[in-house]
Amino acid sequence: MDVSKYIPENPEDGDWDVVVVGTGMGGSTLGYALARKGRNVLFLEKGKFLHHGPLDAPELPPGPMSEADQRLFTGWWPNRLAGTTSFGTSDFYAPLGCGSGGTTGHYGAQLERFTPSDLSPKQYFPDVEGTNLPDHWPVSYETMAPYYQQAETLFRICGTRDPLKPDEAFSLREPPPLGDRDQALYDSFQELGLHPYRAHVGYEYLPECFECTEICPKRCKKEAGEVCLTPALEEFGAQILPECEVEELLAENGRVSAVRATRHGMEITIRARTVVLAAGAYMSPLLLLRSTSAGSPNGLANSSGMVGRNLMLHTSDFIAIDTAQWHSPEGPRKTLALNDFYVDNGHKLGTFQTVGFPFETPFILAYLRHVADSNPRWWRALTNPMLPQASRHAPRLFAKSTMFATIVEDLPYSHNRIIADDSAPNGMRFEYEYTPELKWRNAYFRKRIKETLSRKHRIRFLSGRNNINYGHVCGTCRFGDDPATSVLDSNNRAHDLDNLYVVDASFFPSSGGTNPSLTIAANALRVAEQL
Ligand SMILES: Cc1cc2nc3c(=O)[nH]c(=O)nc-3n(C[C@H](O)[C@H](O)[C@H](O)COP(=O)(O)OP(=O)(O)OC[C@H]3O[C@@H](n4cnc5c(N)ncnc54)[C@H](O)[C@@H]3O)c2cc1C
Repeated sequence: MDVSKYIPENPEDGDWDVVVVGTGMGGSTLGYALARKGRNVLFLEKGKFLHHGPLDAPELPPGPMSEADQRLFTGWWPNRLAGTTSFGTSDFYAPLGCGSGGTTGHYGAQLERFTPSDLSPKQYFPDVEGTNLPDHWPVSYETMAPYYQQAETLFRICGTRDPLKPDEAFSLREPPPLGDRDQALYDSFQELGLHPYRAHVGYEYLPECFECTEICPKRCKKEAGEVCLTPALEEFGAQILPECEVEELLAENGRVSAVRATRHGMEITIRARTVVLAAGAYMSPLLLLRSTSAGSPNGLANSSGMVGRNLMLHTSDFIAIDTAQWHSPEGPRKTLALNDFYVDNGHKLGTFQTVGFPFETPFILAYLRHVADSNPRWWRALTNPMLPQASRHAPRLFAKSTMFATIVEDLPYSHNRIIADDSAPNGMRFEYEYTPELKWRNAYFRKRIKETLSRKHRIRFLSGRNNINYGHVCGTCRFGDDPATSVLDSNNRAHDLDNLYVVDASFFPSSGGTNPSLTIAANALRVAEQL
């Protein structure tokens, strides 16, 4: 696809119904739904356009590239992210996409629904002090259900019904047959009294499908750039400015009057009837916090003081589970999920699912370090020169293993937040306390997995104490009914401004216990209908 056909010549003069900032899961899905309804949509995306076919791919610039440019060419956020957690201060490349499709270019395409219990989150945590968990989301599960179904159809999700959700009307295609190893695990889990099902994933499973974690050149992986952004441009008249970084929003008389951005070193100002922020839950609150004026000294849409607060990230453990005998690992890899531990003895934990990655060196090294944590003598015996050798031979350790991961709901707190800070990379940093309550639920989840599965399987936990999942960021512009405690109303419109919406994962008032993207997409379809 030649994107130049969809780049407006004079964007500042355009008569835009809607400007969408960011082309990830929330932005692309909403922009697609609005363009399909005939609205004049312009996407502004900081990163590059990455969804060209091989014939239209731009040539790489000659000579060595900076690290930031290399990252942009591969669809990753160019700069490091600075923050402080209970484990110390860090400055690292967060798993964050930048470019057409946003983070979905790199995601695992596991697209699961939240449960009704996720939308009434407080009931499981009545005594946790300090959390801002609401009793209910401002939309009910019944309201969300038809949009979940639409999103499942749009992203062509395959999988089987979760037996623990017998009454839901899923829209699922049939998945390819399981390989021998995962079939053995599926059967064994059932014998243990568990309720496995075929994970809900967005892959076409075309011949030689590798269940890519990157943008698939065969268009087999269903991510927001392929499913929504490309058809919005090619079929429904939307336009895009890639490599365009929005710097701030300007407002007057209770409305956003313009968006100020930089493209190729030039400042541009774009006006539109409606402005939709979808820059992700790290960057959308930052844009609001940076958009200060005499009328809103603490940032735009921030009369509640909640912009940037209630940062949630999920926690995830990686777990190797062995079958008793060796079985062939051939076959699809993103295969199994189960929700038997979602709420366990009244404790809200989360889901348990195959990861879909093979056991490669980084995981094996992490495992060796984890073993060393619990047995320092063993680690000391392993001198550095032996380490590469050990990691080469270690695949034998996992010859009978499938890798699983947990997703554990973390709770919103005011002090977990994004802070505008001009001295930090990206002009922001974050603060996140890993609370004792979260630590307890993670330990409890590990214990329950171990005692349940080790009756038939060897179980090895591959992650250490710090199992924060930075790829599942959400919560920093929460929606709610009360303007005093939330940034957005129930239709994702800013309480403070008539024409400003936020549709990325920032809107979550609680993080739920499963993968976030289907909920982001379903909600974007819902908001598009309201808009
Ligand atoms: C490795 C990995 C695997 C994952 N696997 C899964 C999975 O299997 N299932 C699942 O449900 N979720 C998964 N996730 C999480 C999922 O990808 C995210 O939750 C989701 O993509 C977030 O969507 P979003 O709309 O909030 O933002 P994003 O998709 O992050 O999009 C934000 C976009 O805004 C752009 N942007 C930011 N700032 C600006 C600016 N100032 N101006 C213009 N543009 C800007 C960015 O470049 C980006 O394109 C995974 C994440 C990672 C990292």
